[in-house]
Amino acid sequence: MPKTVSIFGSTGSVGQNTVTLITDQPERFDVRVLTARSNWQKLAAQARALKPEMVVIADNRYYDDLKDALAGTNIEIAAGEAAVVEAASRPVDLHVAAIVGIAGLKPVLAAVEAGCDIALANKESLVCGGMLLMDTVRRAGVRLLPVDSEHNAIYQVLDPAHRPALSKVILTASGGPFRDLSRQDLKSVSLEQALKHPNWSMGAKISIDSATMANKALEMIEACYLFDLAPEELAVVIHPQSLIHSMVEYQDGSVLAQLGAADMKIPIGYCLNYPDRHQMNSERLDFTQPQNMSFSPVDKQRFVLVEVMEDIIRTNKDRAIVFNAANEVIVENFLNHKIAFSEIDSMIELVSRQVFVPEITRIEDVYMLDLETRHVTYDIIKDKQTASA
Ligand code: NAD
Ligand code: MG
Repeated sequence: MPKTVSIFGSTGSVGQNTVTLITDQPERFDVRVLTARSNWQKLAAQARALKPEMVVIADNRYYDDLKDALAGTNIEIAAGEAAVVEAASRPVDLHVAAIVGIAGLKPVLAAVEAGCDIALANKESLVCGGMLLMDTVRRAGVRLLPVDSEHNAIYQVLDPAHRPALSKVILTASGGPFRDLSRQDLKSVSLEQALKHPNWSMGAKISIDSATMANKALEMIEACYLFDLAPEELAVVIHPQSLIHSMVEYQDGSVLAQLGAADMKIPIGYCLNYPDRHQMNSERLDFTQPQNMSFSPVDKQRFVLVEVMEDIIRTNKDRAIVFNAANEVIVENFLNHKIAFSEIDSMIELVSRQVFVPEITRIEDVYMLDLETRHVTYDIIKDKQTASA
């Protein structure tokens, strides 16, 4: 029987890689739902190829375009944010969560509650949903398979039977395109340079997050939730070549690492085929050629967000909701040329210290804190622009 799959955010970088893998092994998968925010052309092309039961476009201004593009098919078409969540509550074997940002949280929760296993690329939903999401996953008895390459690596090498003997989870970080630049040099980097990751090809937001290392900060807390880590069980190391995707050190001194080409098809395919492994058209490491691997500590003066997140993990993980919302707003403003690259991390740090974090006991509390942080962040950006005008 083919596995039934839904792909949320199918037109993005992870989404397209997922579609390619499924197109390569059509007999294994039966795609039920595809969703996108606004790219109705790509969504329609994917739908014609994969023949899902339903497609949803989150931005309802594109409903008519999508409907026209799929005329003559019997694919159900819906639009709007609520329709995305409703579609997520349709049971499938595997829900691929590839939306970017906290926008992915409601669909992930709906899919978990519907009993779907989750292939989680959308790290922001876990960063913000935190224990509420993890508890929902446990109650529903579904599997949360990490797509993020680091967490996928850890998932592959962390044997649950050996969890008591774990010493450290070591996340590797490439350091992004500006690893070797000083804070002074950062003042003159362009948007195009920031978008160009040295090893991976990814969506705009995560590419900027990689350049500031906000991505690694988000991944630190993602790892804490996924693998139930105490702060001292987590470390980050700079590994510019991205050959090792992460490692686990055990108390006996053994270190287990997962390696592979910097190709997201590998972790995505692992999740799609789980618990099996199959032949895939992914890139390969070539050990007939010289391969260098180097490691160095993170310079936390240079990449301040790693330290900000260490503090959040030690003191109050709910503050990551503030970190994430500030980052989403600030990155969007950087992408729209409203602020400079060198302002991103200090602004996130400022907002992270400024917003009061109430007790978070319900998912509504998460959304309220997210919204409050967005207001504070917009105000800070506006004040800055007024001051410099
Ligand atoms: P992307 O920007 O390329 O694609 C995002 C997808 O989400 C698109 O299909 C878009 O239409 C959809 N989307 C965006 N906003 C939406 C909204 N408000 N409502 C509904 N749909 C919306 O992003 P990406 O690079 O593919 O990343 C997706 C997620 O995976 C992110 O959380 C990212 O951190 C994570 N991730 C990505 C990579 C990678 O290689 N790209 C690697 C690891 C983790
Ligand atoms: Mg990653």
